[in-house]
Amino acid sequence: MRLLENKTSVITGGAGGIGLASARALAQAGSSIVIGDKDHGRLDLALEELDLGDSCIGVQCDVTSSSDVTHLVNAAVSKFGSLDVMVNNAGFTRDATMRKMREEDFDSVLGVHLKGAWLGTRAAADVMRTEGTAGSIVNVSSISGKVGMAGQTNYSAAKAGMIGLTKAAAKELGFAGIRVNAVQPGIVRTELVESLKPEVLSAKLAEIPMKRFGEPAEVAQVILFLASGMSSYMTGSVLEITGGRHI
Ligand code: NAD
Repeated sequence: MRLLENKTSVITGGAGGIGLASARALAQAGSSIVIGDKDHGRLDLALEELDLGDSCIGVQCDVTSSSDVTHLVNAAVSKFGSLDVMVNNAGFTRDATMRKMREEDFDSVLGVHLKGAWLGTRAAADVMRTEGTAGSIVNVSSISGKVGMAGQTNYSAAKAGMIGLTKAAAKELGFAGIRVNAVQPGIVRTELVESLKPEVLSAKLAEIPMKRFGEPAEVAQVILFLASGMSSYMTGSVLEITGGRHI
């Protein structure tokens, strides 16, 4: 029996990077997959790349929209009959020092990460409670939310906020058997990171005890662990996936 046999997982921002790797890992563990992503073109490419046939659908969804997120989780139940795992992963960065950061860059980053994860947690928990499902919700935070990064006051605040959200939601939902946990990746080789300047990347590399960046699949394995019964007595936890950086 695979870890997620007969389960259904929704992954926001699942059309790229860590989300796509998570979709692959959860599917390999037996789960049906619903990918929610804002980018229609990327969504089509991801579905093609995953090549999972009827056990995977894509839903265009902006995680900052309450109605989109509700539609996303409902799509999981109507297509596959349940919602067992929700991975709140969608996001982007708008880095700048506070002096240069525009107010809209603060709002948009808080919106996609913090409000997006709140909407996703709320919608998934509603469905899980209605259906009586002992589900698992995994929020993708960042090590920036633990230590704070210069040039990322918006992102660090949002990612730290997601930890408060995770712990508060875990306390509200534990009685229903719904677990809520978070991961804090360090630097993982995705498009988000490849857009950074080479000098910034080499300075960061020097801080990593394992002397390399992470791979999306390495984050996906930890998300799979939290999504599955392997972590059945864990809720409100935060797992760092950083190669030892910022321990
Ligand atoms: P990515 O850019 O490769 O993928 C992010 C996906 O989110 C894209 O497919 C994008 O279309 C989607 N997206 C963006 N805004 C959206 C919205 N409003 N609604 C729905 N989808 C939206 O990025 P990634 O590196 O895979 O990052 C995934 C998550 O992991 C993010 O939350 C990021 O903050 C977090 N993270 C990444 C790293 C890293 O080093 N890559 C480190 C720590 C945390």
